[in-house]
Amino acid sequence: MAHPPPPAAHDRGRFAPAPADSAVWDSHPEPLPLDSAPVPEYGTGSLADLLPTLAAGLGVPGMTAGIGELTPADRNCVFLIDGLGWEQLRAHPEDAPFMTSLLGSSRGGTGRPITAGYPATTATSLASVGTGLPPGAHGLPGYTVRDPDTGELMNQLRWQPWTAPGAWQPYPTVFELAHRAGVHAAQVSSPTFANTPLTKVALSGGSFHGRLSGEDRMDLSAAQLAGADRALVYTYYAEVDGAGHRFGVDSDTWRGQLAHVDRLVQRLAEQLPPRSALYVTADHGMIDVPFDETHRIDFDEDWELKAGVALLGGEGRARHVYAVPGAANDVLTCWREVLGEQFWVASRDEAIDSGWFGPAVDERVYRRIGDVVAAARDDVLLIASEREPRESAMVGNHGSMTPAEQLVPLLEVRS
Ligand SMILES: [Zn+2]
Repeated sequence: MAHPPPPAAHDRGRFAPAPADSAVWDSHPEPLPLDSAPVPEYGTGSLADLLPTLAAGLGVPGMTAGIGELTPADRNCVFLIDGLGWEQLRAHPEDAPFMTSLLGSSRGGTGRPITAGYPATTATSLASVGTGLPPGAHGLPGYTVRDPDTGELMNQLRWQPWTAPGAWQPYPTVFELAHRAGVHAAQVSSPTFANTPLTKVALSGGSFHGRLSGEDRMDLSAAQLAGADRALVYTYYAEVDGAGHRFGVDSDTWRGQLAHVDRLVQRLAEQLPPRSALYVTADHGMIDVPFDETHRIDFDEDWELKAGVALLGGEGRARHVYAVPGAANDVLTCWREVLGEQFWVASRDEAIDSGWFGPAVDERVYRRIGDVVAAARDDVLLIASEREPRESAMVGNHGSMTPAEQLVPLLEVRS
């Protein structure tokens, strides 16, 4: 996009007066109305509603069946495929014949989309799945967010810098509540995640079983189900997301990963013990973003967007912007003007009141959310080429509220 050149150093910044020829400024399109944002379906059809629905069916106290159409089963397994959105699955039936058979047309499948939650990113979604709470309550509202106690950015996926997990996310997980209620709770994932803070706050309770291969995870998940009368088992596969980030969602590598994970789903489905239900879902979808200046706006090169910003959090399609003291309103105005119709740009309170993070936001979470929150509408990215060189080079991206990244499958197999 065509921005005016930076002003001279003495009046540098977005508080500088508009250039004498204001045609460039006037050319900014109208900002997107916030009520056009497709807010996640918290309470009735989001990732945070899945485990409470299953746990309610198992008789775990305090759990509510938010997803009304699911029939209770004694043995429940959730298989979370990182990065496999509903739209990407629908677009590749030839690579995923088994999951496609669960979509709801020819073979009586009941597959449907649910919403990931905002932002559509792994740390946020895993916490929503495991705690059964929306981001405004569990308190992992982004890829990176500001820790109000230190004033520094914290990466919630890598948990850097280290922060006391129990203070950051104090709620018990659904696995813990199920375990206390006498339900066999287990997670079957990569050994890498056995002791991470993210696992602790999002996915702990019962027993953790690390297995390197997808096949081993499927087999062990089936065994975990078979070993108990009432069970809640979670398993996970990461590589679809990795292939999408590196090569894009239509790449050969991505389609190969889709075909592989389709065989894993079938392998697990064919081993389900009696009275079981397998639910296949994902933490978010993905969207490819072209490599040009129209689609990749570079924060580090944009004097307008940088002015008054103390910290840039989130990720390219879901930004938390933390302003220097007193500058929040000016940053909001400027970001709206510059990003126009490409992003939904909201103040913290507007985003909260619009329900982006759930029906309510806990007090301890409030200041983790940016003074300004920007969510991509089109296939655009707000990169930061200097401070985030690795993320800025990714082909496939996710985070925002568009159907491509927000809708995830909820496929069901019953025995
Ligand atoms: Zn990802």
